[in-house]
Amino acid sequence: METANTESSLFPTYARYPISLVKGKGSYLWDDKGNQYLDFMSGLAVTNLGHAPDRVIAKVKDQLDELWHVSNLFHIPAQEKAAALLTANTCADAVFFCNSGAEANEAAIKLARRYQQKVLGNDRYEIVTFKQSFHGRTLATLTATGQDKVKEGFLPLPEGFVHVPLHDIPALKEAIGPHTAAIMLEMIQAEGGIHIVEPAFLAEVKALCEEHGLLLIMDEVQTGMGRTGKLFGHEHYGIEPDIFTVAKGIASGFPVGAMLGKGYLREAFTAGSHATTFGGTPLAMSAVLATVETILEDNLPARAAEMGDYLIESLRTKLIDQDFVTEIRGQGLIVGIECKEAVGDIVLAGQKKGFLFVTAGPNVIRFLPNLYVTKEEIDTAVSLIAILIEEHVAAKGPLGGE
Ligand SMILES: *Cc1c(COP(=O)(O)O)cnc(C)c1O
Repeated sequence: METANTESSLFPTYARYPISLVKGKGSYLWDDKGNQYLDFMSGLAVTNLGHAPDRVIAKVKDQLDELWHVSNLFHIPAQEKAAALLTANTCADAVFFCNSGAEANEAAIKLARRYQQKVLGNDRYEIVTFKQSFHGRTLATLTATGQDKVKEGFLPLPEGFVHVPLHDIPALKEAIGPHTAAIMLEMIQAEGGIHIVEPAFLAEVKALCEEHGLLLIMDEVQTGMGRTGKLFGHEHYGIEPDIFTVAKGIASGFPVGAMLGKGYLREAFTAGSHATTFGGTPLAMSAVLATVETILEDNLPARAAEMGDYLIESLRTKLIDQDFVTEIRGQGLIVGIECKEAVGDIVLAGQKKGFLFVTAGPNVIRFLPNLYVTKEEIDTAVSLIAILIEEHVAAKGPLGGE
């Protein structure tokens, strides 16, 4: 028998960094030893309002004293209100609340199939997704994901998913057949390396959906809630999805996901067709309402656009002579610095300097600051990343020597 891990009672599903964070406020986090960190990852695009936002805290605290949970067998006024707020500010007409991004995507996949099969009477079930995409870790959503590493050891996978390269129209056309129900994509492939969908490609995808009677599903779990400089990423394109999904930034860290869709899809999700115990509880909805109201009232998408431009410009200016960097790309406050080699070491070195960020694929440094980030904080981050890259290059020696 192997020696038991005596240090933790958790399954070792995460390669955790050697830091225990215990407190946060705005753009900063503190660990159990009192060290301060500038946070440019925001819990992976979750704490879009910064840590411990006062308005959300106040609303959730009030709700804590009133009522946490009731079954969805009853009317939940806060759920109605949150849904109305979302539909009033998006192209969607109806919302289903759940607890995570993967669940929101599961709901989207189920709704697309059921609309095709029960409402239109078709034999359509297949969902076309894209290579390098990320849609979650449930069996259906990891199958939808266009990355083999998340599928290893989990066979057999559910049927009905095909993957084509992003921006490859001929491959997409070839993938569409008599059983295709929907095309599903992220507006920016975030986990896949910060790849922004080209407008001409999305227009073609939309046209193909209309031509073949397919639903267009957009996974806005990472790009939603103001991060890209619009409330939702698809607003940059002027193209409306039939269904889109949200989670990460919708409730400031309270676990909430949502699937939003057009009114004609209501017919497919009739009573009893889909459900979840915890989706849309009064407590969860207090966090959603306070978060979404703040994003709208403080015009945070516009702020994300302005600060994102400043961040990208500053990075380009600062890193212009750095051969290790091959491209800087992003939209709003989702920004990638693509490098020639793996950047995992740079993330660890950043933590030692009190600066938190993540990767997006092996070679891309990903910045996801909160939407209130200041120019001063961006200046600090840009100076730090320049030093970190310089030190990395100095330690590793000349490039291309692998
Ligand atoms: C994070 C993410 C998911 C999965 O969300 P969970 O809440 O972890 O289930 C799905 N799609 C995209 C684009 C994501 O970034």
